[in-house]
Amino acid sequence: MAKKKAVLNESKCDNSPFCPVVKVCPVKAATRAGGTGGFLGMFGGGGKVAIDAAKCTGCGVCVQYCPHGAVTMGKD
Ligand code: SF4
Repeated sequence: MAKKKAVLNESKCDNSPFCPVVKVCPVKAATRAGGTGGFLGMFGGGGKVAIDAAKCTGCGVCVQYCPHGAVTMGKD
């Protein structure tokens, strides 16, 4: 049986440094990488949110936390 995984719609994601999805994921499948951090990081800083399907357990927690509705449960 195919297991569902979280899928990020990049056109809806604003790659916020405060992304709650990155914070709530219990297995750290959701990450925000490439940011400059510090002051610039506060304004995006070039960082990008991504969900690693290999790590995602499909728990579905993050779907409820994204303020932009950018995360949905897709197929494996
Ligand atoms: S579905 Fe669960 S394991 Fe997968 S990215 Fe979202 S919070 Fe993490």
